[in-house]
Amino acid sequence: MTDADLLARTLSAVWHPCTQMKHLEQAPPLAIARGEGPWLIDPDGRRYLDAISSWWVNLFGHANPRINAALIDQLSRIEHVMLAGCTHAPVVELSERLGQLTGLGHAFYGSDGASATEIALKMSFHFWRNSGRPEKTGFISLKNGYHGETLGALSVTDVALFKDIYAPLLRHSHQAMSPDARLAAPGESAFDYALRAAADLEAHLAEHADSTAAIILEPLVQGATGMAMYAPVYLQRVRELCDQYQVHLIADEIAVGFGRTGTLFACEQAGIRGDFLCLSKGITGGYLPLSCVLTTDSIYAAFHGDATARGFLHSHSYTGNPLACRAALAVLDIFEQDDVIVANRAKAARFTELLAEVVAHPRVRNFRHTGMIWAFDVVDAAPDFSDDFHRRALARGVFIRPIGHSVYFMPPYVIEEAEMRLLAETTLACL
Ligand SMILES: *Cc1c(COP(=O)(O)O)cnc(C)c1O
Repeated sequence: MTDADLLARTLSAVWHPCTQMKHLEQAPPLAIARGEGPWLIDPDGRRYLDAISSWWVNLFGHANPRINAALIDQLSRIEHVMLAGCTHAPVVELSERLGQLTGLGHAFYGSDGASATEIALKMSFHFWRNSGRPEKTGFISLKNGYHGETLGALSVTDVALFKDIYAPLLRHSHQAMSPDARLAAPGESAFDYALRAAADLEAHLAEHADSTAAIILEPLVQGATGMAMYAPVYLQRVRELCDQYQVHLIADEIAVGFGRTGTLFACEQAGIRGDFLCLSKGITGGYLPLSCVLTTDSIYAAFHGDATARGFLHSHSYTGNPLACRAALAVLDIFEQDDVIVANRAKAARFTELLAEVVAHPRVRNFRHTGMIWAFDVVDAAPDFSDDFHRRALARGVFIRPIGHSVYFMPPYVIEEAEMRLLAETTLACL
């Protein structure tokens, strides 16, 4: 199949995500034939550095030999079996290991991030019903928060472009002030601003806690709306408020989990734990769709009993898929064997150094960095800045997609010095 063939056929046969298909006629998608480490390779052999980890899912590179080997081994055993009424070694082992790593347990599986959000929202609501508090049905999320795009997840997502058109289908939820440090008043520290945002949440809870089931948030980094970063003290304060007002905390670590913020899970940096933890994206190293919700023993206990309807009857066909679980186990092995969190610290420090000229560029504002995520905003950005920057970078062999006027880097952890240099130089040239 030639390149031109593939593009014509994708336009007629494939409905691409997050895309106005008419725009795709002018700016055709990049055809990818292979991958290798942090590189995407097109059918003609041209290479593009995957600076955003294929929508934040890839951790250890494309075609990773260790994950490949685990999957090949699993293929010869069992590719899939339903998890209602059956079990298998990969799902048991993965659940035990995630339990040890998070201090939570009772792993419930879905396929995508949005399904994890749905599961956590339903579980929280159902917990309060089972606990004799059926009036606790409301949800709180944060301004500029993102939790996925199925109807329940979209109800707690705050992105007008994705949400407004579907408003008649969505359930109302309250959006509390975002702790985004960029919103601090002149002279106000990120820390003080985070406390002010937490006070806004408290004001809402003081009035509405009785009808509120949970607050859902993205710990440390609000990803989809442009990598907004905030002080960990916000999470500490939210944890205190949730305890005080008897409201669940749902930590959506779908994007920030698995080392993205510099610790295995972002909540560790605030020394707190959610009542629910949602994981996906990096969980399989970007290989297979898998998501997981972990919770506390006491929440789990509220579903336990003789009545079937007291249980959590949610399911997906591919819940706990053995191949996906094996990929996730291989990912956890790599974290352990290569001491990835420690190795990433040195890598992150080096890349930040290499970005010095970018940071000093007159068009760059609000440079920010947490773990393996870097972002900045561009002043005087034209309306088509994001597409334009994307095309210019692509011509230089870098695959990157700014969100509005925010440029961000979220590279696979296998990125090396020369590739970091290319990324920094390309960014400077595109600016
Ligand atoms: C991507 C994302 C989701 C949704 O995950 P999908 O797999 O795209 O459904 C939910 N929450 C956060 C924080 C995300 O970044």
